Amino acid sequence: MKRGASSIEVKKLNRNRVFRYLNSQERASMPDIAAALGMSRPTVLQIVRELKESQIVREVGEFSSTGGRRAKAIAAVQDACYTVGLDITHGHISLVLTDLSEKILEHERVRELFSYSDGYFCRIGDLLEDFLERSQAPREKVIGAGISVPGIVDRCGCLVYSHALGLDHVDGKGFSKYIPYPCIMLNDANAAAVAECSNTDLSRSVLYLLLSNSVGGAVVFHQDTPAQVSWSVQDGAFRNIYIGAECRAGEFGHMVIHPEGETCYCGKKGCVDAYCSASRLTDLAGVDLPGFFRELENGNVRFREVWERYLDDLAIAVDNLRMCFDGDVVLGGYVGSYMEPYIEAFRLKCAGRNIFGHGGDYVRACKYRVEASALGAAIYRIEQYIDRI
Ligand SMILES: [Zn+2]
Repeated sequence: MKRGASSIEVKKLNRNRVFRYLNSQERASMPDIAAALGMSRPTVLQIVRELKESQIVREVGEFSSTGGRRAKAIAAVQDACYTVGLDITHGHISLVLTDLSEKILEHERVRELFSYSDGYFCRIGDLLEDFLERSQAPREKVIGAGISVPGIVDRCGCLVYSHALGLDHVDGKGFSKYIPYPCIMLNDANAAAVAECSNTDLSRSVLYLLLSNSVGGAVVFHQDTPAQVSWSVQDGAFRNIYIGAECRAGEFGHMVIHPEGETCYCGKKGCVDAYCSASRLTDLAGVDLPGFFRELENGNVRFREVWERYLDDLAIAVDNLRMCFDGDVVLGGYVGSYMEPYIEAFRLKCAGRNIFGHGGDYVRACKYRVEASALGAAIYRIEQYIDRI
């Protein structure tokens, strides 16, 4: 806690902690809350009363008694509000619905070729309406939307650059023009990292490597104070995501791993992107990604060679990240979602490069195999709401 925080700030902070605790539990009693958070019972009683008045917590019965009075069971009202996350890529629009549980309640992926046009933006609005209609989320409870894009988003929500969408310095407002809820736009890798790290006790910093048709990344710093990671806007930046001076931090795809190697779309030679994107696998194998992994499982020798070379290059990139940040590395994106069966073998490759000799356990496959970016964008919106509780 900040030194010299006013009593109003302390009260707000405590209210927030109580809600977050309840939101992380199925149900809890007031003595449980007091013990878990180190608060006095009268303080907890007062806060729970306020949260009940706000209709974001409620009583859900009683705990069985161990002698004496039965304790009331309190739970968060997780369907008190909803948000939608959208993920825009060159060929698809994905939608995810979540509530205070921050879980995927509904999701949908629609093939739609991107164009920076009013027609496309109108289509986003229509898709969102249809999606909400089908999901039966009460409209009055939808508090906002988050939009994930494959590009660099500045502090004002301007899309500074997107190779995938072929855009340079465009106002991001077009994307939300036909969405009747408050919107925020964020980089796809940052959004995926938000999903990966939400509802997790972050004991170490996390480097998220998004291995999709291009390679992106995010740097999530571990902070000592909060037990749970929270994502609020401070000067337009996520509290725990390092975005850098020009909002370009985490562009791991353009670290050079083979000087004078393959030419990257950025113009440089030997970038991680040229070796570790999902397209590298599909281009070399001549099949789509599900087809590649199916054949790999079936023992295709040529695909096995392609995969081994891919993992060797990926191990160089991952080792570089480890050397820079000394944190955990999460493999996400299209390739990351297929990584789990190969993670032990890949850890050995990383361990072989680890000069500090602690093995490769710091690398893992991503938690969300589908729609991590769309979910992260939705969670980001929900977290803004929770922060204000
Ligand atoms: Zn490059």
